[in-house]
Amino acid sequence: MDLSVLFLGTAGSVPTVQRAPASILVRRGGERVLIDCGEGTQRQLLRSVGLPDVEHVFLTHYHADHILGVTGLLRTMGLQDRTAPVTLYGPPGAQRVLGAAIALGIERNKFPVEINEVRPGDRLRREQFDIVVFETEHRPDTVGFALAEHTRLGRFNPDRARELGVPEGPLWGRLHKGETVVLEDGRNVAPADLVGAPRRGRTLVYSGDTRPSLAVVEAARGADLLIHEATFGSDELERAKETGHSTASEAARVAVEAGVRRLVLTHISPRYTRDAPELLAEARAIFPETVVARDGMTVDVPFAE
Ligand SMILES: [Zn+2]
Ligand SMILES: [Zn+2]
Repeated sequence: MDLSVLFLGTAGSVPTVQRAPASILVRRGGERVLIDCGEGTQRQLLRSVGLPDVEHVFLTHYHADHILGVTGLLRTMGLQDRTAPVTLYGPPGAQRVLGAAIALGIERNKFPVEINEVRPGDRLRREQFDIVVFETEHRPDTVGFALAEHTRLGRFNPDRARELGVPEGPLWGRLHKGETVVLEDGRNVAPADLVGAPRRGRTLVYSGDTRPSLAVVEAARGADLLIHEATFGSDELERAKETGHSTASEAARVAVEAGVRRLVLTHISPRYTRDAPELLAEARAIFPETVVARDGMTVDVPFAE
């Protein structure tokens, strides 16, 4: 099952020629989850994967650079005669802010749009993964999101099953799911005889806008990919503190403390060039497995094993 992130917008606070405001599209198999939806997100989608069938849009907070794309995206979906519902998720204030975004520019929405208010600690369960909401340190009521795959069944060993005389068919499935089965000759076969240990699912964490924070470290503990904002370099530390943002070094220290596998820096201030070499260098000095996001970049999240 493929898991990847497409960076639609990587700018901090204002769009630039090279960077659109914040948005990522997480793709897992056939599922599409949009997180943040800055101005022009639909156009960023059209430039890359087209307008996918997004059903769930998660907003970290209601600063303009994270939500102004919602209205346009919904309007276009309406013009395409969409009938399937869309659900928007955001921290407290969702009904007021997102309600206004939905109502802007039309008399009536052609398809249902639901608004769900989420809070830190919420865990939204899907069939194969959870979306976990955690607190961030930016403004009151700002959050980040983690996508955590459920633990997978251990590896089933078909050769061993044949050796043990377990006929291929439903018994294999029952063993794989952890049931002990009884064969026709009366022998018991236990899962431990031919199924490996359960395998950990992958975790992808998106910080949204934040100062470095313990809640983000906890949410990102052992994550396969941490996408952390790095609006500034260390020379702008004071400004980062004033505005509730992080420096590249601070993001890298969060990655180290959380023990993640890889770090992507995003929400880059317009003062840096597209490659932001100074941010990359200061982060890599602390956490080597770092890249700076660019608009249109895709990052795959493979299994650790
Ligand atoms: Zn922002
Ligand atoms: Zn913000």
